[in-house]
Amino acid sequence: MYAIRIHETGGVEKLRTEDVPLPEPGAGELRFRVEAAGLNFIDTYKRSGLYAVKLPHTLGQEAAGVVTAVGAGVTDFRAGDRVASAAVNGAYAEEAIAPAAQTVPVPGGVDSRLAAAVLLQGMTAHYLACSTFPLHAGDAALVHAGAGGVGLLLTQMAKTRGARVIATVGTEEKATLAREAGADAVCVYTREDFAAATRAFTGGRGVDVVYDGVGKETFEGSLNSLRPRGMLVSFGNASGAVPAFAPLLLAQKGSLFFTRPTLAHYTQTPAELRARADDLFAWIAAGALAVRIGATFPLAAAAEAHRALEGRGTTGKVLLLP
Ligand code: NDP
Repeated sequence: MYAIRIHETGGVEKLRTEDVPLPEPGAGELRFRVEAAGLNFIDTYKRSGLYAVKLPHTLGQEAAGVVTAVGAGVTDFRAGDRVASAAVNGAYAEEAIAPAAQTVPVPGGVDSRLAAAVLLQGMTAHYLACSTFPLHAGDAALVHAGAGGVGLLLTQMAKTRGARVIATVGTEEKATLAREAGADAVCVYTREDFAAATRAFTGGRGVDVVYDGVGKETFEGSLNSLRPRGMLVSFGNASGAVPAFAPLLLAQKGSLFFTRPTLAHYTQTPAELRARADDLFAWIAAGALAVRIGATFPLAAAAEAHRALEGRGTTGKVLLLP
């Protein structure tokens, strides 16, 4: 089978299409034929070297498809089942391995493209809105990159929970998408000061929470957008990692809370994972969550897809199709 691998970290030119042996599932694992792989920003961090991986490395941790083999001890799944996982070991391939405990069955009304489009970013938006800072009716939230994969889903969930949302976006076209997702206000932060826009949105008070996946470029403005004792949820590094800072800064900015969460710690048990995934599939079935697949690329064109994501040229979800 073929897979997209890196032998060293760096730019998109490091992605290689290679013939590799079909992987065998170990104990507690399953193998499935990948029908759609999800592109996530984390894939670019692993490719660039921001996050360390053992080399050579097959990229990709999100995919959906059909089970072709199960390892010892796997009782929940069997060959032929339709599944999805956000903890895949090498999703950029024709077939991939995932831990059964981190895999979910895909319901009948959801095809593999939709499952691969919603699982990782959807569970991320779910834990951000429901667990890290559980939004309540009347809360005000700032969502950065509001037309991105996580951003569009998080904005919808925040609105469902009754929050007021101001979203930031890079372009006018993205502003339209953020508004359609329910954002009450949108700031084009490439040309406007988003902290000032957020103050105006909240009558000078500041928001209760900032969900910031942009990182380095928005860190300071995000602190300046919060009400006293508000929370900065820093969950990503699309513009680079947030630099080290002194805890005293949080006191100076209003006794703020700062957290740097990651999905693995919010899907630690199969029960927690299933509960989040079940919510996503139920909301989709009920028409309460719209999933935008902004672009699809053939798997062999993964480099082009990485370039588009890193170049801020994508909206919603990007899929890679083997
Ligand atoms: P997106 O689809 O949101 O794409 C990233 C967006 O970030 C871009 O489209 C762009 O939107 C914005 N951006 C702002 N500055 C830059 C920059 N300098 N370079 C590139 N992009 C920039 O990606 P995802 O939905 O996949 O991920 C969003 C964030 O969430 C990422 O940081 C990712 O790592 C993080 N994440 C974290 C998880 C966790 O559990 N901690 C899990 C999943 C994702 P615009 O043009 O509108 O500014």
